[in-house]
Amino acid sequence: MKIAILSRNRRLYSTRRLVEAATARGHEAKVIDVLRCYMNIAPHHPEIHYRGKKLEGFDAVIPRIGASVTFYGTAVVRQFEMMGVYTLNESVAITRSRDKLRAHQLLAREGIGMPVTGFAHAPDDTADLINLVGGAPCVVKLTQGTQGRGVVMCETDKAAESVIDAFRGLDAYFLVQEFVEEARGADIRCLVIGDRVVASMMRQARIGEFRSNLHRGGAASKVRITPQERSTATRAARLMGLSVAGVDILRSKNGPVVMEVNSSPGLAGIESTAGVDIAGRIIELLEKNTRPGRRRPRRRA
Ligand code: ADP
Ligand code: MG
Repeated sequence: MKIAILSRNRRLYSTRRLVEAATARGHEAKVIDVLRCYMNIAPHHPEIHYRGKKLEGFDAVIPRIGASVTFYGTAVVRQFEMMGVYTLNESVAITRSRDKLRAHQLLAREGIGMPVTGFAHAPDDTADLINLVGGAPCVVKLTQGTQGRGVVMCETDKAAESVIDAFRGLDAYFLVQEFVEEARGADIRCLVIGDRVVASMMRQARIGEFRSNLHRGGAASKVRITPQERSTATRAARLMGLSVAGVDILRSKNGPVVMEVNSSPGLAGIESTAGVDIAGRIIELLEKNTRPGRRRPRRRA
């Protein structure tokens, strides 16, 4: 197979591992920076050009679209779809999971556990919004944040009001969430490939911090997940329409609650912690899904 790995940086661990795994299995892998792609949207002849040449002959695409380039990145993935190239995660699924409001609404509709969550842009009644999630302590998050940035814990209603006022001043969308205290600064990342959780890890926030992101100094360790956590993770990924996803779960007193479904989950950390060749499993899934006769029907964008 000739595989396009859409990534802005070939030196990133995940990108390198995917190239390595593809090459080891006899495929040709090319790393393509989405921001350098340009396209024509002509009827019947969709094309993508890159560094002065037309991209041709690709059998599959692995999108690794960073949060800061979601808009253009998903447009490039969509163009590959228009050209009939198999994409590991479809553009519409990436868009769906990136939009935290949309993702939460879909998960809620299907009865998947999540922290009680309120969404707002410029609420007139901040106190009522805080009440909606049961009052302080609560967490206020910018919807477009990643790696724990823009996630604030508010221990009192007064603190929550101040943070909400500040976010409102930024003209940004945010959500207010019940603080899942019993998780004690730990969350579980489940890596879903196809319809299975192939690896998981627990991330524990460092002392004095509630955010468990590895970028915030969180520590990863092995974890055994429960059947309920396993089914929550696979259902969440399936609902988003993602073939590969990192589903983040908190252990709450009411069972597992989904915090986030990530369409380009990082492989660093989880491969070594869980001892699983995740890159290899991703290439295996591509092989399976691009076999003749297994082509995904062309979907609406
Ligand atoms: P990001 O997209 O920036 O990673 P998250 O929503 O995943 O934002 O939040 C970052 C971290 O903060 C989580 O990994 C978790 O440890 C902690 N956290 C977020 N929301 C809650 C919550 N409602 N209750 C308890 N901890 C939370
Ligand atoms: Mg997160």
